[in-house]
Amino acid sequence: MVAGKFKLQIRMNRVEGKTAIITGGGSGIGGASSELLAAEGANVVVTDIRGEAAQKTCDTIQQRGGSAISMQQDVTNQDRWGEVVSETLSAFGALDVLVNNAGISGASSVPLEETELDAWQGVMSINLDSVFLGCREAIKAMKGSGGSIINVSSVMGMVGGAPAAYNASKGGVRLLTKSIAVYCGTYGYDIRCNSVHPGYIWTPLVRNAIEFVDEIETEDDLMQMLVEKHPIGRLGTPDDIAKGVLFLASDDSAFMTGSELVIDGGYTAI
Ligand code: NAP
Repeated sequence: MVAGKFKLQIRMNRVEGKTAIITGGGSGIGGASSELLAAEGANVVVTDIRGEAAQKTCDTIQQRGGSAISMQQDVTNQDRWGEVVSETLSAFGALDVLVNNAGISGASSVPLEETELDAWQGVMSINLDSVFLGCREAIKAMKGSGGSIINVSSVMGMVGGAPAAYNASKGGVRLLTKSIAVYCGTYGYDIRCNSVHPGYIWTPLVRNAIEFVDEIETEDDLMQMLVEKHPIGRLGTPDDIAKGVLFLASDDSAFMTGSELVIDGGYTAI
């Protein structure tokens, strides 16, 4: 090895022994994050509104020799949050990482000026209120021992261009994250809180929006239209985001709190 250079190491234990809850872990970014955290040594609690989807991710992890359990959870239900955290503590003895990932696109064919308040509040409830509920419950569990909270926002929490409720909810997640980071620091809790801002990732959330995009008829056309918005020349993959989640979950990011980790192929650089 040349003096002064880093030796290349393959590391598979960046979150060894930590216990992580990942919401919306039955699909897309949450599924990939669950699998990567487990591969790097975490005990993973995979939750999803579709319990069978969470179990499927859990099965994949266990087949690879990882440690995981699954729970059905609607993240808008505050009582369920208490149960999920309490069952996690019973199963693994601690909560070290919470990934508030579950979300919906709020895509709709209804114009903004015709949008019902119920529709607006439905998106806010799943994308923003749930993050408050998750953070509140995690702080109770983590304040004695420390931990890392990771909130999945979006580039749409930084710039406009999505349905209004989606933009507003993700912007809310961005600033809620900073508020929690400051709060935890002020009270001397060793809890870090950071947000992740993906560009477009080819998941069901994006693919299913096709029916609401004018003049786009095929998935290939939708993908091409979206690729053009990313200077890097492709859409992201769930794994691209999972790697950021892993970094924020691990002690490699020990000096980061209240930060925005933008993983967007240059979407916001234009
Ligand atoms: P996804 O593939 O649709 O996965 C989201 C998962 O969350 C699904 O299993 C979904 O179930 C579940 N879910 C929905 N509502 C829930 C609720 N009330 N309680 C618990 N689980 C619920 O979406 P994704 O693309 O991976 O998105 C994950 C996160 O990344 C979201 O917060 C999203 O806003 C954010 N994000 C995504 C992109 C992107 O381009 N994909 C970009 C930026 C940010 P159902 O399938 O039944 O809805």
